[in-house]
Amino acid sequence: MLLFHSLTNTKASGGKELCQVWERLLASEDGTVPVSVVPECLRKGPFLVPVEGEADQSALRHLQAEIPQATRDDVWFFVTEACTNHCRYCRQRIAGVKGTRALEVTGVQKFWTWYFGQRTREHVSLSLFGGEPSLLGLGLIDILEESERCCVTANARIGEKNMFSNGMAVSGDLAQELSNRGVKVVLSFDGPAFVNDVMRGQGRFAGAMRARARFASLGENVGISLAVGPHNAAYLPEIAVFFAESLKPKNICFIPMHRTRGAPDDIFVAYDYIAQQMLRAYDLAAPLGLYIENVSRLVDLFVTGSVRYSACGATSTRVVLFPDGTVGPCQSSYIEPSLRVPLSEASLAGPEFKQWECRSPFFTEGCLNCHCLGICGGGCGLDSIQRGRGIRETDPRDCAVPNAFLNWAVDRVLARTDGDAPTTILGTQDLLFLRRGMVANPQLPFRGVAGSGRLTAAQVAQCLLE
Ligand code: SF4
Ligand code: SF4
Repeated sequence: MLLFHSLTNTKASGGKELCQVWERLLASEDGTVPVSVVPECLRKGPFLVPVEGEADQSALRHLQAEIPQATRDDVWFFVTEACTNHCRYCRQRIAGVKGTRALEVTGVQKFWTWYFGQRTREHVSLSLFGGEPSLLGLGLIDILEESERCCVTANARIGEKNMFSNGMAVSGDLAQELSNRGVKVVLSFDGPAFVNDVMRGQGRFAGAMRARARFASLGENVGISLAVGPHNAAYLPEIAVFFAESLKPKNICFIPMHRTRGAPDDIFVAYDYIAQQMLRAYDLAAPLGLYIENVSRLVDLFVTGSVRYSACGATSTRVVLFPDGTVGPCQSSYIEPSLRVPLSEASLAGPEFKQWECRSPFFTEGCLNCHCLGICGGGCGLDSIQRGRGIRETDPRDCAVPNAFLNWAVDRVLARTDGDAPTTILGTQDLLFLRRGMVANPQLPFRGVAGSGRLTAAQVAQCLLE
């Protein structure tokens, strides 16, 4: 957190109830963060470490109070359990829940009645996924139209619309109707055909490419989601460049396999290796204009001067409807019935949603000393639960990506500033110290020297974006 503000040189935002640390930060010079004036922050590392003493507790309360209120305006429909593919890593298949149930228009009506009975919203977003949503054919359009009608009746409109698809069942008519309604499509690819078809089945790359061509002929640019496993982890940078140059998607999201209970070990790759590969992919493909979601959204924090309070929409923005008429906040909870509740018993104010709202590293004791606190989000709640942990607990395996990112970011700032630029707030030695993973050492040699040479937010952003 403090490193974050230090690197970006942004002002710490003032809350209604300023903590002692914040008061001192804001009173300092121009409101930036000279570490030397906040010794409380140095006790266990460069971040606010709210563990002991009144100042620490005050800082923690401040951070927790800043966590945004839950909105639950990001609606997802799991439209069908059926799928065209038999991917070896499919979580649905591994969890034994693959069936043929599909959402019906009456179920969609009931959902919106339930939703607007509790929420007044001018805008919601709607995402369609499965299984394979395009197997519903033009039935998908019925669901969209009914949703639009229900929203208009409630004086709301659907802003963003998305569909996640493997592309195999996207007809020309369906592509046209989706395009007419402004639905943005994300197609799943694991790489070029010789990589993709290893796990997804023969001909699946060609099928996804057919769908991509249909959307391209309508002037639509698709996004790409890419499951990462042993078949492609070693090639992620090359794959990202391949897609950036051949398909020119707007964005690509790498999806490391979640550790679903019962999944064979041989479909997993260590997260720290995947993290390194994603960062290499960013180095190569971001200059080609590709938004590598897993990395770019962390870079965005430095660009926009924000803090990441949670890892995913399940904590605060998302509501998911499943074909069996249950709802919950996590779109993958088709494998975890304990996280879903029948619509007739569900409430956005009920524990099924509320228990997720404090799932943030700022509420997790084991995270409060972590140097990744400001960028991490705390990892996947479903992973924690599948591992037999509580919803407020983190899965330590999820720490690999934020740690790798922070090391990379520090290295990059050092490299882009010739390694010896005085950063004023965090000196070069401090950054080197961080990079070596020694942040837990309470004797950090912060300098906090006042004067010129301070890195501006724009400079740091530039270092990470170039
Ligand atoms: S989940 Fe891990 S990396 Fe993230 S804040 Fe907690 S301890 Fe740090
Ligand atoms: S809890 Fe995990 S699986 Fe569920 S939405 Fe969040 S990141 Fe995805």
